[in-house]
Amino acid sequence: MKKISIIVPAYNEQDSLPFLYERLEKLINSIENYEFEILFVNDGSKDKTLDLIKEYREKDNRISYVDFSRNFGKETAMIAGLDYATGDAVILIDADLQDPPELIPEMIKYWEEGYDDVYAQRKSRKGETFLKKFTSKMYYRVLQSLTNVEIQKDTGDFRLLDRRCVNAIKKLRESQRCSKSIFSWIGYKKKAIFYDRDPRVAGKTKWNYRKLVNLAIDGITSFTTSPLRISTYIAIPTFMALFIYFIYVIAKCVITGEVIQAFQAIILLVLFFSGIQILLFGIVGEYLGRIFNETKNRPLYLVNEYNGKKETND
Ligand code: UDP
Ligand code: MG
Repeated sequence: MKKISIIVPAYNEQDSLPFLYERLEKLINSIENYEFEILFVNDGSKDKTLDLIKEYREKDNRISYVDFSRNFGKETAMIAGLDYATGDAVILIDADLQDPPELIPEMIKYWEEGYDDVYAQRKSRKGETFLKKFTSKMYYRVLQSLTNVEIQKDTGDFRLLDRRCVNAIKKLRESQRCSKSIFSWIGYKKKAIFYDRDPRVAGKTKWNYRKLVNLAIDGITSFTTSPLRISTYIAIPTFMALFIYFIYVIAKCVITGEVIQAFQAIILLVLFFSGIQILLFGIVGEYLGRIFNETKNRPLYLVNEYNGKKETND
């Protein structure tokens, strides 16, 4: 019998957990032919989250948990979940029921059809402000324009991953994680299913704009080093401006016989030295980018099949 691990990162979720447990339990009881594991990652909660989880575990041996020593953030909670999950597939789901568990059977169906990464794509987002929706839309645009890896739109972390995707992700041990970019980066056969995102059942969101901006910056910088190229791109027009102005000044001197005026010399000097400076920044940036990519220690590639046999990334 195939086993499916449902990974739930939870940080101060005492109010949502009873609802989540009830709905998840009902759901997995109704799905036959699969063994289930519900793996909670308690991310340093300061409320009764851990007590609740322990209580559930006593009643139900399908429940297991990882308890962090402190709050490490959802990204880290998810990789810990992947590390400890024992299933042939895992499902990542939020504790606040914004991701409806009722999509799970559909995810499993597509997994059985051979998809490796079945992700839930939002049709709508209830209970979220216009500003949050707008910024997240713009963010996807910017991120996509910076990289050639295809990024899934309107997609969170709610998804089913085949064991080999899990093993692949476990190989990416970078510390400033951005799952969004990692899910895209690993590739494999992806399938979108659509849903309406519900508002939180209880409790408050742990996100604020500061956290979101940080996540956005991590996303861009973990995906691509192209922002480091900005210097190089600015240096080129600066030197062009220098060159054109230089020709103009010299030509004017030769034709009219005037000497170079002080302000012209100053403009030339400013353009010259700022051009050199920006260019040097760009060069430093290029090397920094290479060091950055090397220190991430990612595998260079991931194999889908070898001689017709699926690569499991063990
Ligand atoms: N979460 C976590 N650690 C944190 C913050 C959040 O494990 O430091 C969990 C949280 O318990 C929930 C999920 O990540 O299961 C999503 O968090 P939240 O609902 O606050 O984010 P939003 O849905 O507003 O983006
Ligand atoms: Mg939420």
